Amino acid sequence: MIRTMFARTLFNRTTTSLHLHHSLRCSYSRKMSTETESVVAGIKKAGLFQTKGFIGGKWIDAYDGKTIEVNNPARGDVITSVACMGERETQDAISSAYDAFGHWSKLTAADRSNRLRNWYNSLIEHKEELGQLITLEQGKPLKEAIGEVVYAASFIEFFAEEAKRVYGDIIPSTLPDRRLFVLKQPVGVVGAITPWNFPLAMIARKVGPALACGCTIVIKPSELTPLTALAAAELAHQSGIPPGVLNVVMGDAAKIGTSLVESPQVRKITFTGSTAVGKKLMAGSAETVKKVSLELGGNAPCIIFDDADLEVALKGTLATKFRNTGQTCVCANRVLVQEGIYEKFTSAFSNAVQNLKVGDGFSEGVVQGPLINEAAVLKVESFVQDAVSKGAKVLLGGKRHSLGFTFYEPTVIGDVKNEMLIARQEVFGPVAPVIRFKTEEEAIQIANDTNAGLAAYIFTNSIKRSWRVSEALEYGIVGVNEGLVSTEVAPFGGFKQSGLGREGSKYGLDDYLEIKYVCMGNMA
Ligand code: ADP
Repeated sequence: MIRTMFARTLFNRTTTSLHLHHSLRCSYSRKMSTETESVVAGIKKAGLFQTKGFIGGKWIDAYDGKTIEVNNPARGDVITSVACMGERETQDAISSAYDAFGHWSKLTAADRSNRLRNWYNSLIEHKEELGQLITLEQGKPLKEAIGEVVYAASFIEFFAEEAKRVYGDIIPSTLPDRRLFVLKQPVGVVGAITPWNFPLAMIARKVGPALACGCTIVIKPSELTPLTALAAAELAHQSGIPPGVLNVVMGDAAKIGTSLVESPQVRKITFTGSTAVGKKLMAGSAETVKKVSLELGGNAPCIIFDDADLEVALKGTLATKFRNTGQTCVCANRVLVQEGIYEKFTSAFSNAVQNLKVGDGFSEGVVQGPLINEAAVLKVESFVQDAVSKGAKVLLGGKRHSLGFTFYEPTVIGDVKNEMLIARQEVFGPVAPVIRFKTEEEAIQIANDTNAGLAAYIFTNSIKRSWRVSEALEYGIVGVNEGLVSTEVAPFGGFKQSGLGREGSKYGLDDYLEIKYVCMGNMA
C-alpha cells in the first residue's frame, strides 16, 4: 500500500505507452528513520538543509502555505516537506531575476568569474554534505553522489574561466568609411527546468554558462529532488552571487513550467528531462519566441564488434549501463553484440553484472541503489515482460530485488530485437538488453533506427572502423572504447529528438548569448 502511495511521478520519457501524471501527493507520510534523521542532522548543522523557495535572495514559503513531501527512495520515508509553489511565486522569481539582470550583466566578467569561483570552492568544500543530500533524496550510492558534486562543481569552475573569454569580432568592412563589429550579449532571464537523476549536475550545467555570460536564472528542480538544489542556492548566496541572480522555485511542475514559458521577461528556456515535456516547452516557447535548449531522452546503442578488446568492452559497457542504476539519458539502452563474440561477451558480462552490490546508497560497497520510485520499477517490469513475451531470454536477474520496494535486480536479457519496447524506449533502470548482429552495416542500421540521438558507444580495435562508425552514427556523443564520456570541457547534447543545443565546453556559452551586429558609418 505504501508503495502505491509512494509512486508520485509516473512519467514516460518518450511519447508512447505508460501515462503521464504529475499528481502532487501531500498526504502520504511515513516517519523518518533514525538513519535518515542522523544524516539530516549533519546537513542541518552545516546550514544546508533548506526547505523554502529562494526568491530575490530570501527564503520564502509558498504563498498559500502548501508543502510537498520529499521521500528517500531507498526506504520510502519522508525526509521533509518543502514549499509547494506555483504561478505567483514563479512570477515573483522572474521579476527578481529581471531586476537583477541590469546589475549582474554589467559587472565585469572578472567580477562574475570570481563569484562563480567562490561558489565552486564552497561546493567542493561541502561535497560530503551535498553528496549525502543527493543519496538521501535520489538514492545513488554515496561515492557516486560525491562524484556528482565534483562533476557538477567542475562546470561552475569551467564557466568561471570562460566568463572572461566571451569575445566578439571585428569584420572587415565592405565600405571604406564603415566599421563593423559583433558583440556577444547575455540573452537575459533564463528559466531552467531540471530532472531528478542528477539533482546537482543538471543544474550546474545550466547555471554555470548562464551566470558566466551575465544572465540571471530561475531554476525549477524536480519535485522529487529539490533539497540538493536549495543547498546549492544557499552556497551560491554565501559566495557572493547577488540577490535575484539565482532563484529556486519548486512544487507544481506544470504551473511553474507554464509561468516560465509564457512570461515575456524570460528570454530562454533550458530543460533536461523527458522528450514529451521538452516538446511541450518548445511548443509553448513559440508564443514569445524564446531561445530553447533541450537535453531529452536517449536510446544509446553500445556496439561491441568481434574485433573489440573484451576486457575494455566489458568495463565500458558495465560503466555506461549501470551508472546511477541505469538512470541516465546516456546509459546504454541497447547492447549490440556481433555474432562472433556474442556468447563469450554475454556470459562474461552476466558474471560481472552479478557481482554488482545492490542496496541503500549509504551502505558500504553498494554500487547499485534503488530506482527513484515505484513507478520506475513498474516501468522496468513492464519492459522486461514485454521483451520476454516476444522471445527475449533473461540471462540474469529479471525481477524485483529481494530488498523489495524500489530495488530491481541488475539484469541482462539476451536475444532482444530492435522492435521490442525495451529497445524502442529508455528503460531507465538496471537492465541491459542485448541484440545480436552480423555486419557493421546492420549494426549502424539498428543503432540509427530510433528517434533519439544522444549518446552511442562502440568497442573495436580497428582505427578505420572506429572513424567509419563514429561518422555514420546519428548521435551527438560517441564513445569509442570508452563508456564514461561526460566532462565539462566537451559538448554534451543530442541529434534528432534528443534535443537542441549543447551543454559544457566553449559551445555551452552560445546558447546563453545573443549576437549583436554594430555598424559604425561615416568614419572617414
Ligand atoms: P523524468 O522522466 O526525468 O522525470 P520529466 O520530464 O517528467 O522527466 O521531468 C523533468 C523535469 O520536468 C522535472 O523538473 C519535472 O518537474 C518537470 N516537468 C514535468 N512536467 C512538466 C510540465 N508540464 N511543465 C514543465 N515542467 C515539467
